Amino acid sequence: MASETFSGGCLCGAVHFEITGDVRTFLHCHCLRCRKSSGTGHASNLILKPDTATWVSGEDKLRTFKVPDAERFRTVFCADCGSPLPRIAADMSMAVVPAGSLDHEPEAIPVGRIFDDSKASWSCGNSELPVWPEYPQQ
Ligand SMILES: [Zn+2]
Ligand SMILES: [Zn+2]
Repeated sequence: MASETFSGGCLCGAVHFEITGDVRTFLHCHCLRCRKSSGTGHASNLILKPDTATWVSGEDKLRTFKVPDAERFRTVFCADCGSPLPRIAADMSMAVVPAGSLDHEPEAIPVGRIFDDSKASWSCGNSELPVWPEYPQQ
């Protein structure tokens, strides 16, 4: 895939980022850690090989939490509003970008769901569920 620019930020607007790179994959993850850290049924993450990654604003607001018994799992979030933000490897080998943090629709679409065995029974993702564009209609 061609290199694409991903720009986004947090809910309060303090943190803005711009990352360019190739999307390796785009997944919904239903694991318990993603459920806990997102507060929802799954996390939707773009996995990139970044070419460039810039914190346009708010880098001082970034906080990181590494799950103590996890090999790698960590979260990056805004100190003021708690919004999940991209996790960028120090060696730029990989970036995990929460799709919901983007200000635009990425070209890529999700290719699958992972940790389906950990999926909560109430989580979305069953194809027979009704779909509404915004609020549910009666
Ligand atoms: Zn914020
Ligand atoms: Zn996960």
